[in-house]
Amino acid sequence: GKQPAAAHVVLLASPGVGHVLPMAELARRVVAQGEVTATLVTYANFSSAGHGFPSALMATLPPSVSTAVLPEVPLDDLPANARIETRILTVVDRALPNLRDLLISLLASSSPPGGGGVAAFVPDLFGAWALQVAAELGVPGYVFRTTNLMALLTLLHVPELDRTTTCEFRDLPEPIRLPGCVSLRGADLPDPLQDRTSPAYRFVVESAKRHLLADGFIVNTFDAMEHETIAAFNELSHKGVYPPAYAVGPFVRTCSSGGEKAQHGCLRWLDEQPDGSVLYVCFGSGGTLSTEQTAELAAGLEASGQRFLWVVRFPSDKDRSASFFGTAGHGHGHGDSPLGYLPEGFAERTRGIGLAVAEWAPQVEILSHRAVGGFVSHCGWNSTLEAVAAGVPMLAWPLYAEQRVNAVMLAERAGLALRPRGKDDGIVTREEVAAAVTELVAGEKGAAAREKARELREAAAEAWGPDGTSRKAFEAVASEWKKAAAARSRGAS
Ligand code: UDP
Repeated sequence: GKQPAAAHVVLLASPGVGHVLPMAELARRVVAQGEVTATLVTYANFSSAGHGFPSALMATLPPSVSTAVLPEVPLDDLPANARIETRILTVVDRALPNLRDLLISLLASSSPPGGGGVAAFVPDLFGAWALQVAAELGVPGYVFRTTNLMALLTLLHVPELDRTTTCEFRDLPEPIRLPGCVSLRGADLPDPLQDRTSPAYRFVVESAKRHLLADGFIVNTFDAMEHETIAAFNELSHKGVYPPAYAVGPFVRTCSSGGEKAQHGCLRWLDEQPDGSVLYVCFGSGGTLSTEQTAELAAGLEASGQRFLWVVRFPSDKDRSASFFGTAGHGHGHGDSPLGYLPEGFAERTRGIGLAVAEWAPQVEILSHRAVGGFVSHCGWNSTLEAVAAGVPMLAWPLYAEQRVNAVMLAERAGLALRPRGKDDGIVTREEVAAAVTELVAGEKGAAAREKARELREAAAEAWGPDGTSRKAFEAVASEWKKAAAARSRGAS
């Protein structure tokens, strides 16, 4: 008898740790479906920016996941202040010929009668830029959205906003009302969309249009988190307005990385703290505060008297995503550690109550530690889902990308986060920090958010339970790929 051909899926993670991590998790889950193999493609650009990624992570992938790295493309002609979106999309754009070559070689090596061809090409949100290449080769494309569905609906709406309005979005007189979503101020749209004249603006609008080339969206969200939005999106898909969305989340890593064998010292420190007492403060892989904001946050944490575990980054006065490229801080002469930027005597004064860790910490383990009672977060979507999986309430401190959209959704719809301030520009003062973190760990609003976090944790577990909504959605998309592969290998014999 002939073996059924395994469906081969090509996954493309765009540059950045925050993109490679969830794509690796998707790869793991895809091959766990059985009869599916995967190739995980990453970019040489940025991937070595600290933390030993992605090699340590790649080493932990199951054997049915192959890997490929697209060669580094030069970026030295970009202006020094080019936005993160411009940098990433420039990398993706310049590497399109390499991607095409890679897809052609994968098509050749897994083509019938030996295999079922390439059943699907699955880029993430920035990689959606490359859908055209797959379409030209006749490979179905599915965009893996490592954000929530509201952020996707918002992005898909942007080309229309671009066409029908002329002012900057932050000056829009009316809030943006999208089906199934809480309303959004124009000012909450991502930064690159706040300046129509910037190259990043054009990139994002074009990227939104290219999303429509997809055969479907695989979205890292789940029913209990975005019930109304999912229902509204399904209706739009049925009408043919958008490709279908599969809500398959939450995908959360089970450990922080492949590399960390030894237990991080901060976990031993947490072991000594009371249950639910510690605030975990971290702004993702890229989030960066200014020098002044770093000092205010430190002073506010100290003044609050709350216990804290803070992952401190080199500050940057120019770019809230500076850590993403590892460009913040260096050469400023405060020694080799970002801890050198904390106020004089801070470590001594907060000893026993707080712990500051330089640059990177094992977040998944930290959030699920019984001592952690709150999360001061930039609202990156992976961080948010990790908080959900651990049942930890958040204080929303959005910095860049789609984080303001997430913050609005988390505070006003999901109820998981407190968002003390409506505006995100300018400094959050030490008084505001102290009041907000105290409310989160010890106040009534914090308690309500904690209750919501617990509910969401249970619902998240159910979503991947035997008859769970996310499990079913994921099986549905995997079975489309298997059908495509089977049809191809039948067609060839
Ligand atoms: N992360 C971590 N330790 C850190 C900072 C971040 O393990 O000190 C991980 C975090 O657990 C999450 C990812 O890096 O999985 C960050 O992704 P997210 O979407 O939250 O934010 P981004 O970095 O994309 O802004």
